[in-house]
Amino acid sequence: MKRLQGYQFKLEPKSKYLAHLNQALGANRFVWNKLLAMNLARLANKQPILWYYEMCWFITLWKQSEEYAFLREAPSQSLQQTAKALARAFKDAFDKTQPNKHIPVFKKAGKNEAGIRYPQGFALDEPNQVVQLPKLGWVKYRRSRHITGTVKNVTVSRTAGHYTLSIQTEREVEPPVHPAQSAVGIGLGVKNFAALSDGKFIAGPNSFKRHQQPLAKLQRQLARKQKFSANWQKQRAKITRLQAHIAAARLDFLHKTSTRLSKSHAMIAVEDLKVANMTQSSRGTREAPGQQVRQKSGLNRAILDQGWGEFRRQLEYKQHWQGGWMVAVPPQGTSQHCPDCKQSSRANRQTQATFVCVNCGYADHADTVGAINVLDRAIALLSWKPKQKPQDFAGFVCEVNGAVSAVSSRNQLSAVF
Ligand SMILES: [Zn+2]
Repeated sequence: MKRLQGYQFKLEPKSKYLAHLNQALGANRFVWNKLLAMNLARLANKQPILWYYEMCWFITLWKQSEEYAFLREAPSQSLQQTAKALARAFKDAFDKTQPNKHIPVFKKAGKNEAGIRYPQGFALDEPNQVVQLPKLGWVKYRRSRHITGTVKNVTVSRTAGHYTLSIQTEREVEPPVHPAQSAVGIGLGVKNFAALSDGKFIAGPNSFKRHQQPLAKLQRQLARKQKFSANWQKQRAKITRLQAHIAAARLDFLHKTSTRLSKSHAMIAVEDLKVANMTQSSRGTREAPGQQVRQKSGLNRAILDQGWGEFRRQLEYKQHWQGGWMVAVPPQGTSQHCPDCKQSSRANRQTQATFVCVNCGYADHADTVGAINVLDRAIALLSWKPKQKPQDFAGFVCEVNGAVSAVSSRNQLSAVF
């Protein structure tokens, strides 16, 4: 089994390299935006988007022209890599199985920049903490950990004035066997980040909420400054730095949480939320105004803030690494269904937080009940056979990564055999 792994380090280029790096980043951004604009125009005209090799053909053409001669200064192949990334972004955008799919967006300097990817021609000297980049030479990076595997490519990117070196490696590993034998269901809450089927809760980082007021203050100050003046630029850089800080804190929380869960449970069941749908505005149109616009916008911000789509992506690949698996189930009605007597009723959900079954009296925190239902649905999904209802099963057999596992009940998976 091949395992790809990414590493990120802080790159510390000497000031004499900055002009070249920034120019290369600019060239990559230019190519991304120009090809994106061409493709969007084609989509608008109901034409198919350009193939990767067609985009490369345009890049070659531009490099030969006088008008875009500056592209010749960019590291060779990095522009093709940008075209490749754009082709993949379009492919993902039209892939129905991908969570969080969206049409690629334009890159802005200093914000969501396209990085410079070097597929070859680089060299890594770990003991001396330097990387050799084509057309640049040896550049220092801060090695915070050792890498394992063969280096496939390196990428240099820039966020809020800082440069990052991303290294992707590949190595052959034995198909892993998950160390744990338990299964857990996760219900995503808004007040808590998540509720688990074993009754535990995970509090969210709410990194945005904590920084909301400082951020709003900075933005008000920006609005009072003269656009594009030196002070305006300074203020805008401050905002970008704070936003980058918020994003980094959130990503750190998501990684720690998904790693912990993935190490403790062989099967993780999650709600198959279409985050993009949930976060669509409820503003409506002038003819049919949306309802509960204020409440919904608060919920939307909480959802986006907590990064559920990214969390699910991390759980999926981390479970794959550990030899466990993740199952996504339809979320409809998980908050109204009694896990004990299997009756569903809207009346079971008395408030946002409490669940009391009107039929059998089963009571628990509503988010915990949701998580239990998510897990039960996942088990039912895996064990389903025609003519037999999931609840008739005391146990079932399923196949994971080519190995056969026996799953005996909600809380215990028996060993892989
Ligand atoms: Zn009940």
